[in-house]
Amino acid sequence: MQKGYTARIYPNKDQQLVLKKEFGACRYVYNYYLAKRIQAYKQDNISLSCYQTQKMLTSLKKDSEHTWLSDIDSMALQESLKDLDRAYQNFFKGNTRFPKFHSKRSRQSFRTRNQGNGIRIADNTVRIPKVGFLKYKGLKDFDGRILNASVSLSASGKYYISLCVESKDTVLTNNGSTVGLDVGIHEFCTDSNGNKIVNPRTYHKHEKKLIREQRKLSRKKKGSANYCKQRIRLAVQHEKVANIRKDFLHKESFKLANENQVVCVEDLNVKGMLGNHHLAKSISDVGWSEFFRQLEYKTAERKGVLIKVPTFYPSTQTCSCCGYQNPCVKKLTVREWTCPNCNTHHDRDFNAAKNILNKGLEILAS
Ligand SMILES: [Zn+2]
Repeated sequence: MQKGYTARIYPNKDQQLVLKKEFGACRYVYNYYLAKRIQAYKQDNISLSCYQTQKMLTSLKKDSEHTWLSDIDSMALQESLKDLDRAYQNFFKGNTRFPKFHSKRSRQSFRTRNQGNGIRIADNTVRIPKVGFLKYKGLKDFDGRILNASVSLSASGKYYISLCVESKDTVLTNNGSTVGLDVGIHEFCTDSNGNKIVNPRTYHKHEKKLIREQRKLSRKKKGSANYCKQRIRLAVQHEKVANIRKDFLHKESFKLANENQVVCVEDLNVKGMLGNHHLAKSISDVGWSEFFRQLEYKTAERKGVLIKVPTFYPSTQTCSCCGYQNPCVKKLTVREWTCPNCNTHHDRDFNAAKNILNKGLEILAS
């Protein structure tokens, strides 16, 4: 399994010069061979392969005008040619437009391969070919072999490294159950086994404090030292709330993915619902789209599936016992109802969850 790890790096002045030279060289090679490929096609009606351009590059470096390319990490230049080839392939597949020339403004990055341990972590630094050891911050611990590294410079002048690491496949499994979920605002979620998870209403709980900090900020003079301090304080508070919410979602999605082979949910149009101002605050507080995203990848990691049931299916109004449709249940205030056809007494959300499960299994079977 390949995984990416990103960190900010802090090159010194000399290293910055080397990096900038490398950005430039990779861009130059990309553009040079894009022009060559266009020319070859126009003049001789042939398309150059990636391998051909790589061979051409080797001889180009011997050319007196291009000797400076010999100082550059050769693997980074080769990766640049691979990128160019990939851009062509994507174009042929009809995925993208014809490859464009890279300008200095559009791209300040390169990628290089790990050969002979040229890229490695040592003493809180990361080493890359031609540049040497770079200080970094925020790199998570990982186990595995580094395949390649991408270095980039952001618009605000920050340097980043992204390592692609080959790690051992961890085999995750689930307990093979099936479940349907009805998500809501009253309850965060009710499942088809009748369990209810209470909505923690994270934002709501911390709202007062956030409003207070926001008010303090608005009283400070913009641009002053106190304003800056308060802005950071407010941002920290917002992050705290976001983290509490995320922790909650991770915990719940983890449990569900561990337990079930099939998880069925309603394919909610969260964005559309956010347009409804009455609901917007509560909905974004619950964090359904993030919850579904986590459920999707966590079930997939455990070889399970997340099934999204179309919203036009009336999961709330349908009796899960006999299939009778009861329009009286449409109103959100109806929490319990009795089916006029088969007399079954229903909890609104529990019944909906059962219907979502049945519909999901039906979709899975077809
Ligand atoms: Zn019924």
